[in-house]
This record gives sequence, structure tokens and C-alpha cells, in this order.
Amino acid sequence: MNHWRNYMIWNENAECMGREEKEEMQLALFQQQVKRVYENVPFYKKKFDDAGFHPDDLKTLEDVNKIPFTTKDDLRQAYPFGLFAVSEDDIVEIHSTSGTTGTPVVSGYTQKDIDIWGECTARAIAMADGGKHSKIHNSYGYGLFTGGFGIDHGAKAMGATVIPMSSGNTARQLKIMEDFQSDILTCTPSYAMYLAESLEKEGFDAESISLHAGIFGAEMWTEEMRQSLESKLGITAHNIYGLTEIIGPGVATECKEQCGLHIQEDHFFAEIIDPKTLENLEDGETGELVLTTLTREGMPVIRFRTKDVTALRREKCDCGRTTVRIERITGRSDDMLKIKGVMVYPSQIEAAILQIEGLTANYQIHVSRPKTLDEIEVKVETSPEVFSDEMKKIEEFERRIAKKIQSAIGISVDVTLVEPESLPRSEGKAIRVIDERNFD
Ligand code: ZN
Repeated sequence: MNHWRNYMIWNENAECMGREEKEEMQLALFQQQVKRVYENVPFYKKKFDDAGFHPDDLKTLEDVNKIPFTTKDDLRQAYPFGLFAVSEDDIVEIHSTSGTTGTPVVSGYTQKDIDIWGECTARAIAMADGGKHSKIHNSYGYGLFTGGFGIDHGAKAMGATVIPMSSGNTARQLKIMEDFQSDILTCTPSYAMYLAESLEKEGFDAESISLHAGIFGAEMWTEEMRQSLESKLGITAHNIYGLTEIIGPGVATECKEQCGLHIQEDHFFAEIIDPKTLENLEDGETGELVLTTLTREGMPVIRFRTKDVTALRREKCDCGRTTVRIERITGRSDDMLKIKGVMVYPSQIEAAILQIEGLTANYQIHVSRPKTLDEIEVKVETSPEVFSDEMKKIEEFERRIAKKIQSAIGISVDVTLVEPESLPRSEGKAIRVIDERNFD
């Protein structure tokens, strides 16, 4: 059954490679990479020496677990250029994390790295049925953030037309989308939702917009939010994953089967570990994703602890690609809230909210500890049709939502309904959690 041949695959050699051949290639690249960083980056030389690991010890892929991990703190301490493995003259582009939670992490790219990145995002765009014919409405921010440029490099690599919108100026976004007949939207899922809501509000005719797909990432989102975006915009919504420390968006992307995100395994080696014991976990087991850049020259990163919680799936995908997939990221160990001793991910609360008709994806979680016990309040916006002036109706609705959330996370919450559009909107990343507890 070759029905998968109907799928557009950007690089069939790389994306449909047999497992044995692929693992042989990954081992050779991994050996080369650890040797390069050992010789060129003092940080890795010291780290490997301290751990008693020598590049010659890497004889099979099973030996990978002898190599020490790299953490975000390691990358921060190397600020700005301490982990570059090439001369600064060979770096052609630099990106950086925002640094909102500490010293930023800088990522440097050689021309070859930019080509690799473009190849990965071109594969992503092809998964969304994009190609030379596509007009890509790129509303990821352009700048030090990797979103805008990452998609841009891929669009150009495949000869598509990129419309470099960046985020902001919503009225203009909508007008351009209509006038230029953009067909693929790329941005954060929360901004896609904002654009979708604005389309409705501004009275745009759904027929006048010709989007057929969206590639959304850079923040966590849920299956319910996907359904909501797909129906509001009339698109297929693809999840894309990546991080500045590794390269940017395009490390993994969902094909049309929407059953996990295919990792570009000829460039990135993925493992799942137990975040407490640091032992490797089996396929299908949930844990922390660890990534190694197999081909990057400018700033190779070895066994980077992403803090993203997911699982690997290796069974064959109906699209024909053989690459290993990660499941939708269900939490970040940094985002994880411990409330009354229970682990809670904001994404669980979002999923519960979106199952109730008349609610929007706009919510905010407030955690406090007024006395000795944690309290959690969830503020949720209703849609204009549902919002009521009748106190009794509102209270009833709030109780119903609280019950739904409680069954999702296992602890009781207070729910407050707020007026449509009264919570702060974000045009970049959404701030969903306000934790007012004092842990001193
Ligand atoms: Zn697939």
C-alpha cells in the first residue's frame, strides 16, 4: 500500500531512511561531534575529563549514556560566545533566548548551520503541504528570537514566498492575509488564536481568507486548542518544536497524521531520561527530552537537558517517514506547579477549559497560600454570547468548570468567570500562571 506516496516529503532519503542505516549514520556523526567539541571547546574538554569520558569511549549508540549532560546553566555561564566551536569569523548569524528567566543563551550559526536549519524548516513546511507555490504568512517575531528567521530560512530553501510579518499590528496582518492570499500561517498558537478571534470580530468573511495550514509552536498548547484553531481558521494545524539552544524551530514537526512530531534524526539525536535518576527510559515512557546536535558546526550541543516532558514513538507513521516522533510536549519541569503536593501542568487546565462550550482559550491560573494551604483560582473568559448579568447563572457555570478542572488535575479549584476580552492578550508568549506563594 503506497498511499503515503500522496504525501509531499521534502527529503525522502533522510526522512524515510531504514533504521539500521540511520543508526550507523548517527553513530558516525556523534563520534565526529564529540571529538570536535573535545578538541575545540574548553568547556567540553573539562566536562568530559571530569566525568572520565574520552571521545574514543563512544563505540556504539548505547555508549551515549556515558557522556555527561549539558544544562541550560552551562550554556548561560558560557555567555556570550564561550561554547562556539569555530572562530567568530565563521559565524554568520546569532540568535538568543529572551533572558526573561536569567542570563540569555546565545546560539551562533555558520553558513552550513543556517543551511541545515533551513533544510529542517523546509521539511516542516512540506509536512503542511507547502512547497514552491506557497505564500507563507510568517508572524513569528523576527529578531534575536529564532521563530521568524527559522521559518524564513526554510521557506527560502524550498523556493516558497515568505511574507515576513513578524507579530503585532493585527489589522494589517488580516488585511495582508486577505490581499496577498497567504496560504500557510506560522506563529505561536496563542497569536494564531488572537488572529482568529480578530478575524471574527473585524467581520472578515472566512471565504476571503485562503489559509490551508498553520505551523504553530514556541509555546505549549493542547489538542483542544488545535481543534479550535482548525475550525476557526479552516486549516490543518501542525505542531512544530525546537529551541534556540539546539537550533530553533524545526527540530521536530507533525505531519498530516498528527500523531507525534517527527524528529530530524540526521541532525538531532533524541533520548528520554528520568529527570530524577537521569537514567535513559524506553520508547513510550514519559520523561525529559535530551537532544544532541549531530551536525552543527558553530555551537554544537551535546546531551542537552531540554526540561521538556514527552515520550518517543518509533512505530512506523502512515505518512511513510521513518523518523522517531516525540509526543506533544505535556509540560516543562520548570512550568510544573506543585499544588497541595500534586504535580499540575497548566496544559491540563487548559485542556479541561476548552472542553466546555462557551469558553475561550484565555485563562489565567493564580496560585496563592493565604495561610498554610495552597489555593488555586482559575480566571476564565467567557465568549460574548455566554456572558450573563445573572449572578445565579454565572455561579452555576463556574461550579461546572471547577468540577471539570478538578477531574483533570485531581485537586479542587476556584473558578472566576471574567468578561470577554478582559484578560491581558499576548502577541508573543502567553503568561498563564501567576504564582503568589512565598517559598522562603
Ligand atoms: Zn508522519
